[in-house]
Amino acid sequence: MVKTFYIETFGCQMNAHDSEKVIGTLVGQGYSQVDTPEQAELVFYNTCSIRDKAEQKVFHRLQQFKREQGKGKTFAVLGCVAQQEGEKIFEKAPHVSMVCGSASYNKLPELLVQLETGNKRVTGLSLDTDETFDTPMTRRDNPHRAYITIIEGCDKACAYCVVPFTRGPERSRTSASVIAEARELAGAGYSEIQLLGQNVNSYRDPSPAGWDFAMLLDNVGRVPGIRRVRFTTSHPRDFTKEIVDAIENNPSLCNHVHLPVQSGSTRVLEAMQRSYTREEYMRRIEWMKASSRTIAITTDIIVGFPGETEADLQDTLDLLTAVEYDGIFSFKYSRRPNTPALKLDDQISEDEKSRRLAVVQEHQRQIQIRRNAGYVGRTEECLVEGFNKATGQWIGRTSQHKTLNFLGLAADEHELLGKYVNVLVTRAGPNSLAGEYVRGA
Ligand code: SAM
Ligand code: SF4
Repeated sequence: MVKTFYIETFGCQMNAHDSEKVIGTLVGQGYSQVDTPEQAELVFYNTCSIRDKAEQKVFHRLQQFKREQGKGKTFAVLGCVAQQEGEKIFEKAPHVSMVCGSASYNKLPELLVQLETGNKRVTGLSLDTDETFDTPMTRRDNPHRAYITIIEGCDKACAYCVVPFTRGPERSRTSASVIAEARELAGAGYSEIQLLGQNVNSYRDPSPAGWDFAMLLDNVGRVPGIRRVRFTTSHPRDFTKEIVDAIENNPSLCNHVHLPVQSGSTRVLEAMQRSYTREEYMRRIEWMKASSRTIAITTDIIVGFPGETEADLQDTLDLLTAVEYDGIFSFKYSRRPNTPALKLDDQISEDEKSRRLAVVQEHQRQIQIRRNAGYVGRTEECLVEGFNKATGQWIGRTSQHKTLNFLGLAADEHELLGKYVNVLVTRAGPNSLAGEYVRGA
């Protein structure tokens, strides 16, 4: 009998890729994936607990299915909420049968067997691991870009963040296994690779080769057939000049660095336990600005951390102007269980956090309008990722990770999906560019 499963993923790219590996594991165990929870015998939620709202989503989903069609199905909660809440999930949602955090995913085949043999409640909650979740099979969603995890977990201790509690200690994969996976992907037709980790640049090769992140990055970029390499996320403390040098010298490495700053105020950075000052952060930005490549820089910002003043907020706005970011992800500070910031006084009201978020976002919008206008008149290489029927435009992605919508390809040129083409940028908005295909370039 074919066993069916459905999986829904919440949160970051790490979770998206973990789900790809979970799918590979389940298919390897003889399960078959279906498109809706209604069709499935096993329903998996791969969860995120980075902010309170993300955490609430999974309990909402579980409630829906408890009332509607929960009968006869087996429910499993994976990921960060599973790790954080542990067996309490069985109390909150008694129809759940499996709770498993990401540090225990290598036990999934064993847990599945326990479920099949009639166990009603199985758990994988140990954080005490030095293993990574490498699977012989990984189902990949995107036909052109593939993720490779190079490091799991986090050893930093940012005062606001649950990740060290939900994803366990830092564990790097050997450089040989990363390069072997990159070669395999190139052989399977992927041309773009994205290296993943909570802090990719904290990578330390556990094998005698002893590569650091810059060496690994450079070598992945030299795998024949790999045309683009991206990486996310980098931590400013471990961001070295060698990474910028690698980008400078290796054409396969994309012109994009995501370097989360969180705040422009050294005082707030210290309270956040980020382990760098504004000045140290700016030195890293200067390395990138000095490069002959046009490196796009993006970041994460948290507003309303306990004790953040108007002057601190102004420091953040000034930093956005000084760096001229190509894009930001901005968030209202969310109080998370177990984190040191919970104990801090001077929590800021939700209304005030919302106001600050709007100020930051409007400030950044103006920066992006200016920054993107600078691309008009340039010809950029794009990976063709899709076609928008409503606008009749092709959707391309530049090395800087900007969306560049363009006209000029004939309708019968569908074979260009997944190929690289040159596009002349003719217009720019805050969030994307538009242009025309440069034939024969
Ligand atoms: N490891 C990365 C780093 O240190 O930059 C970040 C990984 S975290 C999954 C992604 C982003 O979520 C963080 O950069 C931060 O901006 C945001 N974040 C984390 N905890 C948060 C919290 N409690 N409230 C609001 N935003 C939070
Ligand atoms: Fe969270 Fe800080 Fe680790 Fe990033 S470095 S995952 S923000 S604790």
